[in-house]
This record gives sequence, C-alpha cells and structure tokens, in this order.
Amino acid sequence: MFQKDKDVFDVLFESVSEGVIVVNDAQKIIAINSSAENMFGYPKNELLYQHLDVLIPKKYHVHHSTNVDGFMKHKERRQMGRGRDLYGAHKDGYTFPVEAGLNPLNINDETYVMALVIDITQRKKQEEALQELNTQLENKVALRTQELTNTVNELKEANKNRDIEIKKRIEAQNKISDALKKEKELNELKTKFLSLVSHEFKTPLSGILTSAMLLGKYKLTEQQNKRDKHLKTISDKVHYLNNILNDFLSIEKLETGKVNYKFSSFRLTKLLDEVVYNANMLLREGQKINYPKNIDGLSLFQDEKIVELALNNLVHNAIKYSPVETTIDIDIKQDEMYTVFVISDQGIGIPEADQKQIFNRYFRAENALLNQGTGIGLNIVKSHLENLGGTISFTSKENKGSTFTITLPNKASQ
Ligand code: ADP
Repeated sequence: MFQKDKDVFDVLFESVSEGVIVVNDAQKIIAINSSAENMFGYPKNELLYQHLDVLIPKKYHVHHSTNVDGFMKHKERRQMGRGRDLYGAHKDGYTFPVEAGLNPLNINDETYVMALVIDITQRKKQEEALQELNTQLENKVALRTQELTNTVNELKEANKNRDIEIKKRIEAQNKISDALKKEKELNELKTKFLSLVSHEFKTPLSGILTSAMLLGKYKLTEQQNKRDKHLKTISDKVHYLNNILNDFLSIEKLETGKVNYKFSSFRLTKLLDEVVYNANMLLREGQKINYPKNIDGLSLFQDEKIVELALNNLVHNAIKYSPVETTIDIDIKQDEMYTVFVISDQGIGIPEADQKQIFNRYFRAENALLNQGTGIGLNIVKSHLENLGGTISFTSKENKGSTFTITLPNKASQ
C-alpha cells in the first residue's frame, strides 16, 4: 500500500510542470523533479544531496542562507523574493529569472522545505518588451506633447503679432477716416463759401456798386452830405463782407486747430466801450443799449480779442433781430472764479422748434431768413468759448425776445 502511495506520489511529482525541489534543514536537496532538473540543466539525479546553493547565483548566497534560516524558524508558506527579482543558476553558468514558492513540511519530526520554482525568462522578456514599448510610447507622447506645446506657443505668438497688426491697421484706418472727415468738412466749407459768396455777397455788392455809381453823380460842393451817405453805405457793406470772410477764416482755423490764443489782463470797461461803440453804429431807429452797471474796477485775464468777438456777435444779433424802438441790456456779474455776461433783447426771438440747432454751423431759424446772415457767428463763438473754458447758453421766446449768457473763467488756464 505504502509502495503504491509512493508510486502515485512519484508520478504526480514528475508530472508537475513547475520545478519541485525539496531540501532538508541543512539545505541539501533530497528530492527534485525532472522539470527542475531540466530548468537548471542537470541530468537525472545529479543534484540529489547537493547543497541548494548550486542552484543559486553566487552573489546571492549569503543573503539567501539568512533568508532560509529565518524561514525554517517561522515555518510558514510563502512566496519567495517578494518585492525583488529572484535568479536561478544554470549548470551552463548563466543565470535566469525564477519565481519560487516555499512550503515547509514536517516528516518524522524532520523539517523540510518544498520549493516550487517557475522559469520566468519568457515572461520577463515579454515584460521587458512591454516596458520598452511603454518607454517608447511615453517618449513619443512626450515628444508629441512638446511639439504641440511649441505649435501652441507659435500660434500664440502669431496671434499676438496679428493683434498688434490689427491694432496698427485700425489706427491707420482711423487716421485715414479722420483725414477724410476733415477733408470732407473743408470741402463742405468751400462749397458753402461759394454758395454764400454767390448769394450773400450779391446784395451788398450791388449796394456798393449803386452807391459808387451815385457817388459820381454828386459833383457839386453842397452835395457833400449825399456823397457821405453813399460812402457810409459802401463802408458798411464792405465791413459786412469783410466780417463774413473773417468768419470763414475763423472756422478753418478752429477746424484745423490753428488758433493761438493770446492772453492778457484787461479792464471790462475798456472791452465794453469798444463793443458798445461798434454796436452804436449799427443801431436802428429808436434802439438803445443799456451799458452794464458796476463794472468799474473789474478785469479779466483772457484773450481780449476773442471775448470782444463773442460780445460783438451777441450784441449785433440782438440789434439785427430786434425791431426799432427796443432796448438791449448788457449785464455783467463777476465772482471769485467766473464772469457772467448777459445780453437780452426784445426782438423776434427763436422759435422753439429751432432752438436745439441754433449753435449748429450754418443754421438759421426760420423767422430770421429775411435778415442778412450766414449762421456761422454763434457756432464760432461757442467753439472759442469752450476752448477758453467757458460756456454759452440762451433762453428765448418768439416775438418776445432772447437772452444769451456767456460764462468765462476770470483767469484763463494757459
Ligand atoms: P447769423 O446771424 O449770421 O444768421 P448766427 O450764428 O449769429 O448767424 O445766428 C444763428 C441764428 O440764430 C440766426 O440766424 C438766428 O436765427 C438766431 N439768432 C441768433 N441771435 C438771435 C437773437 N438775438 N434773436 C433772435 N434770433 C437769433
């Protein structure tokens, strides 16, 4: 029976595909199957009773012995070489990777260890090949990632350059369209000027012509007052035409930013004397101007010529757009910072519908069309005043009168 059990055991022992090696507590091989012998390159039974060290590469010997001793003491099943590679020594002198499981056995009070050994050369090779493939793949991925990063950076740079280019183009376009706008406005000005010359200049010019013709007819000494009357007509109309030309020149200067303001300190009485003197020559029958009160001792630091131009304009309009026998009031108040000029008349007023556009260039209210005019004056005055840090506004009621108000800093900031 026992013999039969041993036979069965031998058959099983031999037929296992793993190498099976049994050692005693002196680490002598006391049983080994053919798979193990083949694995390590030994003929049948040559390994029997040899020390296990024959199958272990020399450099692992010391380490291995300590491990086996430890294992013998604790006597528990376990996988060998956990966490590190194990190698077997082939009879031909080379080493090969193995995996081994250890099983302690007790037979007749003797301790044995049965080791199950598998040659994992093939698996290692596959693992290495896989590792190699992985490394190659990782390198490729790293390379592609780098290439992608480079491309993204190049794109970013290109985008940045494109943005700069676009900005430059927009700036250039803006400059061109600004220039075009200026050009258009100047063209419009020229066209307006031509139509004004042909329309607005006709009446005064024919007046001048008539007066000049009549002048020649009054040859007698006692006709001096008639000659004077015609000379005045000529002088007034030339003056009028000259003013229109000056207005046009002002527009162009304002438009092209070529106005140079000249600041100085001047007394308000001096300024007002000048304005009222000019206005008196234009007054109609029964019209009178109320000179501002309490301005003695007041002065301004501003461009005197421009302030005079503004007041002249407002006072001349007040005269022009008021009937005979009316009064024009000039009022001036000054505080620490500002001087306020108020010019009111009892004239035709400005229709409510036209009030919004009154400062637009060339705009003339529909009730003013019978009077001579160009619609330029208020526009120029407003631009100048704003350039000097001032404002202009008005209130008006048709057929009742208008009040224009100018506010200017006492001291221009240069
Ligand atoms: P102009 O008097 O040459 O037409 P302005 O620019 O001085 O040009 O005035 C623009 C318009 O404003 C005038 O045509 C007129 O309709 C209106 N206006 C200005 N001042 C007065 C005023 N004091 N009374 C009534 N209308 C006025």
